[in-house]
Amino acid sequence: MYKINENFLKLPGSYLFSTIAKKVASYSKEHPDKEIIRLGIGDVTQPLAPAIIDALHKAVDEMAHAETFHGYAPDLGYEFLRSAIAKNDYQALGCDIQADEIFVSDGAKCDSGNIQEIFDGSCRIAVCDPVYPVYVDSNVMAGRTGEYDPKTETWSDVIYMPCTKENNFTPELPKEIPDMIYLCFPNNPTGSAITTEELQKWVDYANKVGAVIIYDAAYEAYITEDNVPHSIYQCEGARTCAIELRSFSKNAGFTGVRLGATVVPKDLKCGDVMLHSLWARRHGTKYNGAPYIVQKAGEAVYSEAGKAQIKEQIAYYQKNASTILNGLKEAGYEVSGGVNSPYIWLKTPDGMSSWQFFDFLLENANVVGTPGSGFGPSGEGYFRLTAFGTYENTLAAIKRIKEL
Ligand code: PLP
Repeated sequence: MYKINENFLKLPGSYLFSTIAKKVASYSKEHPDKEIIRLGIGDVTQPLAPAIIDALHKAVDEMAHAETFHGYAPDLGYEFLRSAIAKNDYQALGCDIQADEIFVSDGAKCDSGNIQEIFDGSCRIAVCDPVYPVYVDSNVMAGRTGEYDPKTETWSDVIYMPCTKENNFTPELPKEIPDMIYLCFPNNPTGSAITTEELQKWVDYANKVGAVIIYDAAYEAYITEDNVPHSIYQCEGARTCAIELRSFSKNAGFTGVRLGATVVPKDLKCGDVMLHSLWARRHGTKYNGAPYIVQKAGEAVYSEAGKAQIKEQIAYYQKNASTILNGLKEAGYEVSGGVNSPYIWLKTPDGMSSWQFFDFLLENANVVGTPGSGFGPSGEGYFRLTAFGTYENTLAAIKRIKEL
């Protein structure tokens, strides 16, 4: 008789967003007349920019002719896209990253969940608390996290780095030494950012203790402040300790199109072994490449027209972010994030728990957000709103919250 991977059974409860969806569906069914505004899940609402649509159309037409048809994409991504990423996202910032250190994928969720496969089962992970759930859950599935304690909502073998009001929602260096450190800045869910000097401390620490940093830069397009780095490779020494994850979802609206990239510098080595070789082997074995038409769309993100159109889209969401941030402040809420990020993190009023506030907001303002406790114990008593709605809905939601 076969056996299952019992690590899956250790995962507590259902996935945060399915629980929210169920609650909202049940409320909607009971109150069909209510117009619900969703500022919970981090999905975008603006359509793809015209330059991207053009590129998609052209690529689709190419697929209709034998001379221009494309079959399997190269495992690691088409050269045209890898070069565009290297040039625009790295070399333009002064980072020494080459096209052959970039692996094109179908998004940062898969990469952030899969990257742990190239590390030994005994490696200890360190994560921020609260945190994007994929980092922890994918390590649970791999059997790397020990036992779950439902009381503390923590895993025995995970090193948690609380991100609280006291530390401005940026973690402190851990007391125990981890092997793998997951960092995400600008952060989901807290919306906090890290300065280059602060990030440099992490790079120095990782190089000193022999840890690898998995740096999720999915929200770098939302950075507005000068001293906030767009890539970890803006820090000296990051080539020997950091892997960076990129996504086309939040900067260019590819949530449904699917495109991402992971950077593994060739200087990143465990003894003599380049992590680049392991990830290339893993990618080649388990992945057949993002579709040609999608990679052509990705290339268009870096065209002059694409860049200008995307800048406008990001500005649209940034305007939503400041509308939420300022509106909540005026309503007397304690808020952070929203300046270098599409996420606004607010303290729930009157000592309500995160889920109590979720119900309160759904029932009284018909606004959906995300309970902070769903991202980890330090998120309890907090709530996340996102700037990815339409401007009209964002304004309406804030008006309703102010009137509560
Ligand atoms: N990383 C973080 C921190 C995210 O918040 C998200 C999506 O919400 C992702 C990765 C997923 O990105 P993608 O759509 O590229 O899979």
